[in-house]
Amino acid sequence: MRRWWEKWIAAPGLCPLCGSVHSAAVWAGIWDRLCSSCKAGLHQIRPPCCPLCGRSWPVPSLCGDCLRHRSRDLERNVGVLRYTSFPKELMRLFKYRGREVLAEPLGEMMAEALFAAGIRPEVVTYVPLHPDRMQQRGFNQSELLAREVARRLNLPLGSVLERIRPTPPQSRRSRRERMSALSGAFRLNPRSAGTAMDKKWLVVDDVYTTGSTLAECAKTLKAAGAKQVCSLTWAR
Ligand SMILES: [Zn+2]
Ligand SMILES: [Zn+2]
Repeated sequence: MRRWWEKWIAAPGLCPLCGSVHSAAVWAGIWDRLCSSCKAGLHQIRPPCCPLCGRSWPVPSLCGDCLRHRSRDLERNVGVLRYTSFPKELMRLFKYRGREVLAEPLGEMMAEALFAAGIRPEVVTYVPLHPDRMQQRGFNQSELLAREVARRLNLPLGSVLERIRPTPPQSRRSRRERMSALSGAFRLNPRSAGTAMDKKWLVVDDVYTTGSTLAECAKTLKAAGAKQVCSLTWAR
């Protein structure tokens, strides 16, 4: 039962994902501000998980994928939740239906997970879109998430990467084909000249699928002098 003062401080709020009315203290953490039906559709990744790619894994050691194809440049990935049907639906609304306001709650979940994982980057960046894709969509969802993460962690955002080759859809390709299609797909943005690169970088992306995109971004940053590169994705 709630104490009288708990009732008083729990003003009715709106679920930041679906907008339905429910009561939660305005200063409650993101997971407590979600309505029960949204919360039920999201499955946070909790330990044990693979220390490298951040997927749920029965033992706290490298998963099979990471044992076979370990990126030399990407130190570690943190994924907030499993990419099940409700997160897929939210991502579709966010990316293709222009629900850009979702960047705020999603970014809040990401910043919280990164902090809990004990990763302390110095600069935040994101996986860039190819200019053609950017023109089609009008915004880069990873950039919006990175802005929110940087704002919450009080870190600078460095827009240093650019995509010089469009990458065709990856789903039906083998890992080797994906890697060679991605090789050299990114470079340092000419506008990044003057940015101090010898920092601990965090690369933000919406979803971690095979990790090849993030590994390639990490490679580009490392080649430019980055001290360490970790990544953060909303779904894994
Ligand atoms: Zn909701
Ligand atoms: Zn792994």
